[in-house]
Amino acid sequence: MGPGATLMSGAWGSFHEEIARWGEAGRAVEFWWRDDDAAQRDPALERLVALSARAGVPVALAVIPRRAESSLFGALGETVCVLQHGTDHANRAAPGEKKTEFPASEPADSALARLTSARERLQVLAGKRFVPVLAPPWNRLPRHLLPHLRAAGFLGLSGYGVRAIAETTPGLTQVNTHVDIIDWRGSRGFVGEQAALEAAVRHLAARRTGAAEAGEPTGWLTHHAVHDAAAWDFLAQLLESTRAVSGVSWRSGEELFHTF
Ligand SMILES: [Zn+2]
Repeated sequence: MGPGATLMSGAWGSFHEEIARWGEAGRAVEFWWRDDDAAQRDPALERLVALSARAGVPVALAVIPRRAESSLFGALGETVCVLQHGTDHANRAAPGEKKTEFPASEPADSALARLTSARERLQVLAGKRFVPVLAPPWNRLPRHLLPHLRAAGFLGLSGYGVRAIAETTPGLTQVNTHVDIIDWRGSRGFVGEQAALEAAVRHLAARRTGAAEAGEPTGWLTHHAVHDAAAWDFLAQLLESTRAVSGVSWRSGEELFHTF
């Protein structure tokens, strides 16, 4: 084994040790999986769905309503639910503002009208697979919209990073993602096993020790359209090495956002 291989087994080893610590404490590890930017049925999307089906691990697919083609929904199997990824994924950021579909300057009425009509379109297309949860593009949404999301038809919100409180606003459940497997600032490919697994261990350890809220499942964030071979391999290994571990459960979007 070269140094690379040693490093690899080290990161997987630490990951499984952290899972074992939860078991020793009599607690189950909850994971969930969100994949962003779906709009059409293509080989990458089909590969993602097949991976989820083969492992029996649910995936919450964040679909862009205004770009979604009806053929996409024929490709989704039993393990896939559909979340709403903004409306059209257009960047409306003002100069100096970080990329966002919902700039701070946009009146709430205008943003909510866009969100509502996009939700209605997606709901018709996705049918029973639809879970009314907003996963905003770039994981950004102005706080002033939050109190209005329930009235606009949403039961949940999903962003990135440790959530502040379980219920952002009455009737709205927030469950975020915490491990992004893509290196957006660098290669725009796989971030690497070590970085991905370390981020997962960090979130799990923070939950276990009380530094982060214990009840928020650790969310894995993927983007099927940009996965390189290493990202696909990692994902397959992650699902394979956790799905049958006692004390680990992969939760579906329906379960997390109480939409049964
Ligand atoms: Zn996106």
